[in-house]
Amino acid sequence: MNLSQMTKDQIVSFKSENEKLYNDFKGQGLCLNMARGNPCKEQLELSVDMLGVFDDGNFMSSCGTDVRNYGIVDGIPEAKKFFSDMIGVGTEEIIIFGNSSLNAMFFAVQCAFNKGILGSKPWSQCEKRKFLCPVPGYDRHFKVTEFFGFEMINIPMTPSGPDMDMIEELVKDEDVKGIWCVPQYSNPDGISYSDETVKRFAALKPAAKDFRIFWDNAYCIHHLTDDPHCILNILDEAKKLGNEDIVYVFGSTSKVTFPGAGVAVMGASVANVEELRKYLGISIIGYDKMNQFRHVKFFGTIENMKEHMKKHKEIIAPKFRLVCDVLNKEIAPLGIGEWTDPEGGYFISFNAPAGCAKRIVQLCKDAGVTLTGAGATFPHGVDPEDKNIRIAPTYPPIEDLAKAMELFVICVKIAAAEKLLGE
Ligand code: PMP
Repeated sequence: MNLSQMTKDQIVSFKSENEKLYNDFKGQGLCLNMARGNPCKEQLELSVDMLGVFDDGNFMSSCGTDVRNYGIVDGIPEAKKFFSDMIGVGTEEIIIFGNSSLNAMFFAVQCAFNKGILGSKPWSQCEKRKFLCPVPGYDRHFKVTEFFGFEMINIPMTPSGPDMDMIEELVKDEDVKGIWCVPQYSNPDGISYSDETVKRFAALKPAAKDFRIFWDNAYCIHHLTDDPHCILNILDEAKKLGNEDIVYVFGSTSKVTFPGAGVAVMGASVANVEELRKYLGISIIGYDKMNQFRHVKFFGTIENMKEHMKKHKEIIAPKFRLVCDVLNKEIAPLGIGEWTDPEGGYFISFNAPAGCAKRIVQLCKDAGVTLTGAGATFPHGVDPEDKNIRIAPTYPPIEDLAKAMELFVICVKIAAAEKLLGE
């Protein structure tokens, strides 16, 4: 029965039943952390053989550089070839960074801030700076633009991507300098942008010539189904319109091989890449080329990497299934929440009744399950409706995840009942 259709007495007894269950949980001394989207141990094991690829004693890149030595600021040719296939750009349109795409994004914002983009005034000298933030979104994106003093404007997500009508209107303002996008299996909704959305992004004509779309394709090969639908290639679409400078594409192998020891890349027009490469050479002599070579040697081809991703899928898809099954069984009949059943990526986005998210996360925490903080999916950590909670199912063993979900739904029930009772 839908909770909102219950009488006050029914809600009171529903609440006290669930409080009893909750207190039993508290007695169990749980200690589970589901705050971040980390791969689990079995996933990390999938790439351990990579550590042996230099047993053949070959350290020479095809360009004649010994990868153990200094040099080549933007990546060895093998890595450029391999990763340009991964993110769908040409070998002249890619920079191989270090182990973190977030760090590459920070670098790109920092360059725009200090030096400007392709002759435009540095963002630091602009009286006002605004950035568009599809919400819910990735908290670390928002922290970057917060750090650089941007006013962040929330853009609602729709099932086909961010609200494009709103974006097209807002980019008429010259102070609007960019937008964060996770176009395939967005963090946390798991939404993939429709072809129309990608085309509208590629066709944007912002007032600011230095407006950039930060196209963080972190989950481009992270499918949870056997017949994945891939989004359109934005750089190709933008090129068709002579608008190729508008986008910076990012990706990494953090959730393919090892988070923290993977390879991060950025794709962009030749003009953008040339400028950023110049600045990069001031900050570093060269990233870890051994790691670049290790990745290329380990996978060989992009097809092999996609096969490798199927092994990840085998491990984590049952965890996503479990979360959705529990929510379908326990929450759907009560009408006290909505969630996504994503076809890829790392998260399930749960929307509780308005005003309940903080309370649910706190209740879970007090009983030993740490979730991503409520509000984290919004700029400045402020969810105006206090309803979004990011569920990250990959890391815990499935038995622990089942326990955590059992607790989670009890907490949702308690918080929703409290809300209806006006407590
Ligand atoms: N972008 C998104 C959308 C992410 O979810 C994450 C990791 N959770 C990152 C970037 C970070 O990637 P990296 O490890 O390459 O810095």
